[in-house]
Amino acid sequence: METIRRHAEDFIRTRLAPANPPNDGRQTPMRGHPVFKAQHACACCCRGCLAKWWKVPRGTEIPPERQVRIVDFLMAWIVREAGCSG
Ligand SMILES: [Zn+2]
Repeated sequence: METIRRHAEDFIRTRLAPANPPNDGRQTPMRGHPVFKAQHACACCCRGCLAKWWKVPRGTEIPPERQVRIVDFLMAWIVREAGCSG
């Protein structure tokens, strides 16, 4: 779970946090990593979803404390999905 959390932090920081992330709307594959699945389930896959469900304004960088909250949320989902506490 440590590793997965680190990946989640990386994905959020590099693919979602920048003000204008590259390929926004398509930066999160549907499969390939548990975090990707969680991002779609939690509406954390692109800035459009984040704006709609998380009220994160588009065109601004996501502040670090907000990124932590998103990662916490994703990890809680992954743990629940895996049916264990990792
Ligand atoms: Zn999305």
